[in-house]
Amino acid sequence: MPALVVRQLRKTYRNGFEALKGVDLTVDAGDFFALLGPNGAGKSTLIGILASLVNKSGGEVTVFGHDLDREPEAVKACLGLVPQEFNFNIFLPVVEVLLNQAGYYGIPRPEALERAEFYLRKLELWDRRHTEMRQLSGGLKRRLMIARGLIHQPRLLILDEPTAGVDIEIRRGMWEFLRELNAQGTTIILTTHYLEEAESLCRHIAIINRGRVAEREGMTRLLGRLEAETFVLNLKQPLTDAPDLPDFPCILLDDMSLEVELLRGQSVNSLFSALSRRGIEVASLRNKQNRLERLFLDALDKGGGEPA
Ligand code: ADP
Repeated sequence: MPALVVRQLRKTYRNGFEALKGVDLTVDAGDFFALLGPNGAGKSTLIGILASLVNKSGGEVTVFGHDLDREPEAVKACLGLVPQEFNFNIFLPVVEVLLNQAGYYGIPRPEALERAEFYLRKLELWDRRHTEMRQLSGGLKRRLMIARGLIHQPRLLILDEPTAGVDIEIRRGMWEFLRELNAQGTTIILTTHYLEEAESLCRHIAIINRGRVAEREGMTRLLGRLEAETFVLNLKQPLTDAPDLPDFPCILLDDMSLEVELLRGQSVNSLFSALSRRGIEVASLRNKQNRLERLFLDALDKGGGEPA
């Protein structure tokens, strides 16, 4: 049985804006699934509907076989949400945040205490259990939101940009935790702006664009389609012509910058060696387009949304 089936999901906001225009999506039980898309694509709207925070205008949602319209309570019980915005009472101590949430799901107090301790230890928050929410750093708050989303032990956990604004070290710790959770059987869906995050964690991916699913594929296949990457190199000395490098087609953008395309498997170091053999030194380099932008643009080209 799939964890999530979404059929022809539509949302028109009160001002007439159509945020979802018939979204179809299936996520298998046990999957680690990334929902990607540019800002305004409709990701939060979709998640809001799944979590019963936003009313849908049409279509069907089924979570582990439970229909959202007919069995909202059953859906609520098997779904955990980690929202993007911090929505806590900032004066509550950390452990109370979890106990309150457990109370909301009707979990008896002794069991709630046990679970709270388990997740707080797992997420390295146990030492802070008596600290008021407002005194936690952004990264710690995020981890507490994850603990809160898990307190009723949902089979499907949905995280809306869980690592936005979190520093690298904490992010890696969160990745480890989520991987372990998934390995133990929890289905996870996350939205993210970082392709690196999706690439590192997820097995399947859907790209949403302007209220529609533009792409749904296995991670490996999708990344395999990104054959080439374009770099812009800033040079230490000016050039009058683009060098003729057999393996690396170049365009001279201006006398101090070169655009070079690298195919998958070609290394930046081998490019630097080829350039230095011609006496060309590179001061800095940047990706002309990041890979995520490239994916969105490709998805657009394939008719994922109407032109702007
Ligand atoms: P994402 O999470 O992918 O950035 P959202 O689901 O937040 O996208 O938003 C999708 C679109 O719906 C955006 O254009 C946004 O401006 C619009 N939108 C979101 N919430 C509302 C609302 N309450 N009323 C009207 N429009 C909204």
